[in-house]
Amino acid sequence: MSVTQTAQLMDGRGLAERIVKEAAAKAAEISRRTGAGPCLATVLVGEDPASVAYVRMKRARCARAGIQSRHIGLPAATTTAELIGTLAELSGDPEVHGILLQHPCGPHIDERAAFEAIAPEKDVDGVTMRSFAAMSFALPGFVSCTPGGIVRLLEAYDVGLAGKRAVVVGRSAILGKPVGMLLLAKDATVTYCHSRTADLPAIVREADVVVAAVGRPRLIRGEDIKPGAVVIDAGYNPGNVGDVDFDTARARAGLITPVPGGVGPMTIAVLLAQTVEAAANQLGIGEH
Ligand code: NAP
Repeated sequence: MSVTQTAQLMDGRGLAERIVKEAAAKAAEISRRTGAGPCLATVLVGEDPASVAYVRMKRARCARAGIQSRHIGLPAATTTAELIGTLAELSGDPEVHGILLQHPCGPHIDERAAFEAIAPEKDVDGVTMRSFAAMSFALPGFVSCTPGGIVRLLEAYDVGLAGKRAVVVGRSAILGKPVGMLLLAKDATVTYCHSRTADLPAIVREADVVVAAVGRPRLIRGEDIKPGAVVIDAGYNPGNVGDVDFDTARARAGLITPVPGGVGPMTIAVLLAQTVEAAANQLGIGEH
């Protein structure tokens, strides 16, 4: 007889609310002590509806947490040089403490060059090479928000990672790669999988912790989840569908993130927390 277990859900929404509340309290304290509130600049090239919606949501969350935001909407025809000029200007503006360049920016933009124009102390989205290096060397700096949110979720649910086999499916610079580095720093044995990986299911079957960061609906199937494993689904596909087949995975996992309500809210919470931290540092009352 097969025994069906049901995984405990990892409540990203609840944890994110607590993180945002803490950030809001710190933002209020910064305003009280310095007379200047934290300010996040959001930069968007073009008017892609999904990007417009993401930026609007991030700014609304900022407002609710008492963080100011300044939006710079640039025409779709903006060149890489013009975008770099805008980002350099914001990097030098003392009234701006954090900078978020919403991506993708469009095929004509050299996105890496644009990211690198963000001053490291204002890189609250953790997208620059310097932030990645600092994270990899466990030095102070800002982490890429989704990986940072995933690690906070794992910590909140007391998931011990030392000696555990972690499998990260996806290797993008903002998600797969950094989350693997953060798990490695916590002494997990990390395997990266990607589009050229041979026999993905066989590798997933060995994982104590699976992070799905692909952008392919229900790619990871429940039958490949090791019983009791921790399943983190960072995927977000049209129709609120993750990269994990939730129903079948839930029947085998020990802990699992829902989509929506798992990783998504954590990403914004980390963005807000890092914006407040950046403001505190720049206004001379930070911890670093
Ligand atoms: P991305 O840049 O497109 O990277 C996707 C990765 O998945 C690549 O490394 C790719 O491999 C790999 N891949 C593609 N097809 C595969 C397959 N069949 N088997 C194994 N690996 C495969 O995407 P991303 O920006 O990292 O985003 C990934 C997902 O996370 C998306 O659903 C996105 O919406 C979501 N996301 C969510 C949040 C959030 O806040 N919740 C934030 C960011 C992203 P190659 O490198 O070989 O091409």
